[in-house]
Order: sequence, then C-alpha cells, then structure tokens
Amino acid sequence: MKVRVLGSAAGGGFPQWNCGCRNCDGVRQGTLNAKPRTQESLAISPDGKHWYLINASPDIHRQIQEFPSLWPKETRGSPIEGIILTNGDMDHCLGLLSLRESHPLVIYATAAVMRGFTAGNPMYRTLERFPGQVTWKLLSIGIEQSLTLSRNRESGLSIVAFPAPGKRPIHLAGSEPVGPEDNIGLYVREAGATPALAYFPSVAGHSGPLAEALQGATAILFDGTFWSEGEMQEAGVGNAQARDMAHWPTGGIQGSLAFMAGLAPRRRILTHINNTNPILREDAPERAEAKSAGLEVAWDGMEFSL
Ligand SMILES: [Zn+2]
Repeated sequence: MKVRVLGSAAGGGFPQWNCGCRNCDGVRQGTLNAKPRTQESLAISPDGKHWYLINASPDIHRQIQEFPSLWPKETRGSPIEGIILTNGDMDHCLGLLSLRESHPLVIYATAAVMRGFTAGNPMYRTLERFPGQVTWKLLSIGIEQSLTLSRNRESGLSIVAFPAPGKRPIHLAGSEPVGPEDNIGLYVREAGATPALAYFPSVAGHSGPLAEALQGATAILFDGTFWSEGEMQEAGVGNAQARDMAHWPTGGIQGSLAFMAGLAPRRRILTHINNTNPILREDAPERAEAKSAGLEVAWDGMEFSL
C-alpha cells in the first residue's frame, strides 16, 4: 500500500489567511524554520495507479496539482477511485463541492456523516446533476469493507471504521447528540495482509476502541492539532481550549504523547496540525520532545509504503 500525505494542517491551513500569530507570520515572512501546509487529507493506493483520498479538503485542487499520480491519464478521467470521510467537518467535505465537473464520485462515509452533508444542503445539488454522479457507500462501525474500483471490482484495499471520541461539525452542533458515527478513525490494509495503517486525524481523548485499533496497526497517523490545552489563548488568537474543539493535545501530563510513546515500535506520525502548534517549528523544544518520544510530524508530500 502506498501512502501520501496531501495535507497535514488543521482547518485554516498553515499559514491561515486571517492569522498573524507568531507561526503564521513567521512562515509567511520566511523567518521561521517551518514548512507551509495545506489542510489535512491523505491519499492511499494499492498499486500506485488507483487512489483513494481520505477526506476532501478545501485545498483539494492544489493537492491534486502537487501530486502527479492524481492527474488524469486520459482526456477526461481521474485516478481517484473514491473518497472516504472521517467526519462531516467543513475541512473534510468542502473539497467534494469543488469536484463538481461532471465526474462520477464514490464517497465512503457513515450514514450520519452522509446525512450531515446532504440533508437540507442546496449546494449538494451541484453533485446531483446526473444519475450516478455520487455513489455513497455507507460505512458501518467495526465492519471491514472493501474499497472497490468501477464495476465493483476489488481494489485490494479494505477499511474498517472505528468510533473516535469527538464532536459533530460546528454547523451541525446541538442539532442531535453526538453518536459513534459522527467522528471515526480508519484502519486500512491490503486484503489478507498484516501491515495496516491507522488514520485518526481527529481524536478528543482516549477510548477503548481507539486503543484496540491502534494496537493492530503498523503505522499510525494521529491527531496532532494542538500541543497544549490553552495554546490558542497563548497565541492570542482566541479563547477556545483544545477540549472545546474536541482535540486531545499532545503535550502535558494528560497529553497523548505518553499514550503514543507506549505504541512503539509502530511508526507514529502527527497530522492535522493547527497553525498555533509549536511543533510546526523544526527547532522548537516541543518538536524535540515529540521526536524523543518517537513521534514524527507529517508534512505535505510525505510518502511511505506499507
Ligand atoms: Zn496562526
């Protein structure tokens, strides 16, 4: 299985258009030892020819442009065979509306995420202009499901959805209680093979299913949104705490770092990194602390095989 990080930043990207915090300003000016990043998305492939995206970020056009494997191989067409959604956040779904150029899309999502994106959304009609423009393939928690090619042929990859502690998207907050289908992580593997990828870009805290999914994985991409609980406040960009935004900070006594350190010898990579996070600075002490715990920091264009 081939894996390519298309985007490694949290919502807003890095730098964020309206943010002049130390990190955003420094990366714009070129005075910071840090790479710019687009909003979180991953591409996976069984063979380097057929690809699946996990999440469709608002930066999707740029991400496709930056990765020649996703370019059309014929007059009209795309090597993107399907798109899997881990939740209904705008940062994960807005890109779908940008793929409206009369191309059939296959979208894998839980019923809750599908409803959240389609119900009462007049803009979704841009993806309903002809029969079969979108095929939804519903994910059930805990059930292994094949990723398919056209005419229902097997791609060789399968996924399992695990519930991850989280919240409903901001635009749907309060409309229904949070359920297990609102925010998932994925376990991806080649059919019958042992190496597996766990993709958990949004995790509010520890849970049993989460620990179970990660124990079986060879490589883990995990929520690295915030280093600390009060990071937004410290950066002067707002009062929200990490927990208000349903993200488990990496650092501190209660942080995910100790949990992640216990998952060695797997490859462990932080992604969905907010622009206020000190680990974006390659010379930051927090970055060194993560590294000494065995954690890597994802960057746009990072590739590996399992
Ligand atoms: Zn910023």
